Amino acid sequence: MKFYNTFSRKKEDFKPIKKGEVGIYSCGPTVYWYQHIGNLRTYIFSDILKRVLEFEGHKVKHVMNVTDVGHLTSDADSGEDKIEKAAAKEGRAAGEIANFYLKVFKEDLEKLNILPPSIWCKATEHIKEQIELIKALEKKSYSYKTSDGIYFDTAKFRDYGKLAMLNKEGLEAGKRVDLKEKKNITDFALWKFSETPGKRQQEWPSPWGIGFPGWHIECSAMSMKYLGEHFDIHTGGIDHISVHHSNEIAQSEAATGKKFVNYWMHGAFLEYKGEKISKSTGGLFTVSELEEKGFLPLAYRYLVLTGHYRSPLEFSLESLESAQNSYKRLKNIASELKDDGKTNNNYLKKFKSAIENDLDIPNALAALWGLLRDEKADGKYRTVAEIDKVLGLGLLKKDEICVPDEIKKLAWQREKARGEKNWGLADEIRKKIAEKGYLVDDSPAGTKIKKI
Ligand code: AMP
Ligand code: ZN
Repeated sequence: MKFYNTFSRKKEDFKPIKKGEVGIYSCGPTVYWYQHIGNLRTYIFSDILKRVLEFEGHKVKHVMNVTDVGHLTSDADSGEDKIEKAAAKEGRAAGEIANFYLKVFKEDLEKLNILPPSIWCKATEHIKEQIELIKALEKKSYSYKTSDGIYFDTAKFRDYGKLAMLNKEGLEAGKRVDLKEKKNITDFALWKFSETPGKRQQEWPSPWGIGFPGWHIECSAMSMKYLGEHFDIHTGGIDHISVHHSNEIAQSEAATGKKFVNYWMHGAFLEYKGEKISKSTGGLFTVSELEEKGFLPLAYRYLVLTGHYRSPLEFSLESLESAQNSYKRLKNIASELKDDGKTNNNYLKKFKSAIENDLDIPNALAALWGLLRDEKADGKYRTVAEIDKVLGLGLLKKDEICVPDEIKKLAWQREKARGEKNWGLADEIRKKIAEKGYLVDDSPAGTKIKKI
């Protein structure tokens, strides 16, 4: 199995450090607002990675952090703390803000069939570990103090910026920018002092003064706590390469003297009109907003799977509409499959060779469609069940979207009869629906149709 490693800019054979368990760390959400569908593309990518590893027989220990302190409005260690800002704006406690948006995020993951990590870890619950790590860096003289915090001296770390292939000369030229008290343009905060202690909602004592951790240190401290000082895979969106992940490598390797991560994998952006989706360019929907427009969350997952994770994916409501149509067609075909006790190894092989080639899901989907369109192929049911372990599209789950139009029409007529209190006719139609193999279930949440 090959994965593209951002560190080497090459596809490399995947070899786990320990036989039996693969450690993955994924940079998680900053919980000051809803995660948009662009953010969620990155989590669908890490979900596919995890499912592929499990499909190939590995046990996976997956850790995801929750940034609930320290992420400032500017990545350059200035501006306001995003969580504190949201708390002040909404008039709520910082912890309440973080818990609320984390809850919505977890609900979105569930809607998108994204498997939860083995371990969730919050920055605010690992202050001690972050302070310990900063102390270790201080002891090795990698840090220095300014009037607003403790900084990492990137000039002392020989390989700084290797992941991002940062060009030292370009950075030297960049020195003309106002560094304030920083020694180098790339230096970053490990610990920030509270401007006026007692004013922030979230602050802690430390050997350097009352304050809060910088954004990057949490990921080094928590990944190493749960996965060890050297682990297999680290994921995130491509925007993390040049700053956040470059800083994680510097802090971790400077403190331990060991290689931090073997494979760095990054997901490309979801774009809108050729640009990263954002408030200013548009296309910034949440999963719930897509649902309000009549889209199924799994249709969005399907849309994401039609693109390779390393290529930008252009989003539009039209492309989502067409993904939804394909997804519904796929579910309809799958719902008619009968288990003949066989597996189709020919198509399964095609599927496996696609996923083993740096998670080539568009080709894996093509293998699935090939199987379903092949009238002579056998073993379809079990092969689809196998394939769906990776795709996570709920293909064999019986639900309303695979109900044929004829049944939907009957159900609608029954609803109409019930509305007119014509219980006899409503019952008759229910029986007719049952004869065709469907069950009408009237629950308090509404009427649902299921396959018997
Ligand atoms: P944040 O909550 O801002 O820390 O972002 C969470 C994740 O979403 C990070 O891994 C980002 O790299 C990723 N991300 C942000 N914008 C996009 C986008 N438009 N498309 C894909 N991933 C994104
Ligand atoms: Zn991170």
